[in-house]
Amino acid sequence: MASPYEKLPRIPRYQEIVLKVTTRYRKLLEGSRGKIRSRKKARELEIKKLQLVHDIVTEEIRKIVFNLPFVDRVHPFYRDLLDVLIGYDKYKQAVVRLARALKIIDKIYGEHIALVKTAPRLRDARRFRKEGVGRIMSVLKRNRRYIDFLANNIPRLKRIPSIDPKKPTIIVAGMPQVGKSTLVKRISTAKPEIAPYPFTTKNLILGHITINPIITIQAIDTPGLLDRPLEERNPIELQAIMALKHLNGVIVYLFDASKNSYYTIEEQIHVLEDILDRFKEKNIVIAVNKIDEVDENKLKKIMEYMNKKNLGKPILISALKGLGIDELLRIVFNKLNIEVKELSKTKP
Ligand code: GDP
Repeated sequence: MASPYEKLPRIPRYQEIVLKVTTRYRKLLEGSRGKIRSRKKARELEIKKLQLVHDIVTEEIRKIVFNLPFVDRVHPFYRDLLDVLIGYDKYKQAVVRLARALKIIDKIYGEHIALVKTAPRLRDARRFRKEGVGRIMSVLKRNRRYIDFLANNIPRLKRIPSIDPKKPTIIVAGMPQVGKSTLVKRISTAKPEIAPYPFTTKNLILGHITINPIITIQAIDTPGLLDRPLEERNPIELQAIMALKHLNGVIVYLFDASKNSYYTIEEQIHVLEDILDRFKEKNIVIAVNKIDEVDENKLKKIMEYMNKKNLGKPILISALKGLGIDELLRIVFNKLNIEVKELSKTKP
């Protein structure tokens, strides 16, 4: 499990907690009907009523507070995505407020249970119980918006794909139709998973490459992310994209230099420049795909551009036909500091 949000519990809404309290309260009353034959028993019932309300409310709030991750301890990749999706400040405020509510409720309970137990008259014990229940329920109510905020938004976090930010990762970038998903499928040693990613309507493909029993690598394609000029993005989309920066990985930028390429080389260079600019600190490997159907003129344009910018030579591959893949992987593994003796395990 890589995503800290994957196994988060379902958060109940405020109304559900209130309903739970009232239902159990009613059951307690029904269960004790006809059994209260002494003052002692009557006082015990008052104690039980207060206990029940305290226990249910704190149990429900505890489920939230203790099961949600401390956002500051979450890996920056997942923290950024949380921020994009539901807001870092709002999340933190909700959790902190609920943790505080727990303390307040415990304090109220402590005070009132003592009063109920020691009140000289049963009438007073009942009044203290009522006050205690009222105060606990009003603390719950004051925190309604935090509970409902988390109840509404935690399911969105759970949909974040389980990408392991610490695992070596190949992030395949390039404009639509250049062959990103074909490459991920080609280099994966197991069937890739399909996962949604926040703020893209398209799913991304997450592949795994097992090099040996100890080392596995992830490969992801980035449809809707690193596939068009970043200046066209709104700030939220941009943040979802920039979260990729936190992955421990290498970006493989794919050009399509085939005769029927969907985009011109100029357009593809433009996107590459954006990525080079925004992901400066990342290793970027440039490859030209569809070399089986290459248009020499287009290839020449790429070579000239790379030469001018001192970017070295692109790696020529065909993701579809499996050409140049071993060389590409060798370079990528090298950048990821992974030593591989032989690469013949990759598919032919
Ligand atoms: P993506 O949008 O970048 O993920 O691109 P896809 O992987 O979906 O590929 C787009 C199209 O290009 C598909 O029809 C692929 O079969 C084709 N394609 C991908 N790689 C190659 C290649 O190396 N050679 C040729 N001829 N076609 C390719």
